[in-house]
Amino acid sequence: MLSPFRWLRRRWLARAPFPQAWEPLVAKHFPFEASVPANERARFRRHLVVFATEKVFEGAKGLQVTDEMRVVVAGSAARLARNLSLDVYDDLVTVLLYAGAWERDGGTILGEAHRWGLVVLSWDSVKQGLVNPLDGHDVTLHELAHVLDLTDGRFDGTPEMASFSALHAWAHVFSAHYTTLRASPGRDKVLRAYGATNEAEFFAVATEAFFEKPRAMKQKHPELYAELARYYRVDPG
Ligand SMILES: [Zn+2]
Repeated sequence: MLSPFRWLRRRWLARAPFPQAWEPLVAKHFPFEASVPANERARFRRHLVVFATEKVFEGAKGLQVTDEMRVVVAGSAARLARNLSLDVYDDLVTVLLYAGAWERDGGTILGEAHRWGLVVLSWDSVKQGLVNPLDGHDVTLHELAHVLDLTDGRFDGTPEMASFSALHAWAHVFSAHYTTLRASPGRDKVLRAYGATNEAEFFAVATEAFFEKPRAMKQKHPELYAELARYYRVDPG
């Protein structure tokens, strides 16, 4: 349940003007905003402000968190969830930013989402995702999709659904596409091979492709596209 404090603050935020200093950052990093209807743009900005205000942003190893970092991560969250409830990120508490990638167990990590309310991102990789907005690879969208996946309490590639029939249709389409990708990862022109890792990664990779290569996905995987469009309540293709 929304705490009274959070509820009051959100009401106050809804009435406050959008921060002037953030305007050029939004124009630079989220050009899609100019092409969506005014009400959708308003919801995007509302999500952005709530996310940027409510989440704790921390820099790892002395990294100073700037306004740009805050707006870029919050804007990516808002881009995904602009037509979803403001509550979808409520379980996320902290965004931890590293300057670059980090190593663990011999592997290079660009981002991580944890079920205890933490997302960790490499700022270099966040920027890389924005520089190539059409390549189907964006670490910020990827990790935030994992946060949405957890809205039903499970890290399983299925976020909280509006109804049982929506869940049924989703499961049917997703399992068929996941099985196909697993059979020949690397052959799909729209979905990255990493999506074959497990169902949770499949949803995160499919989300990246849906927002970055919507036309290609609509053409190549129309049923998958339709399920994502129904869930996110957007039709970018
Ligand atoms: Zn992932």
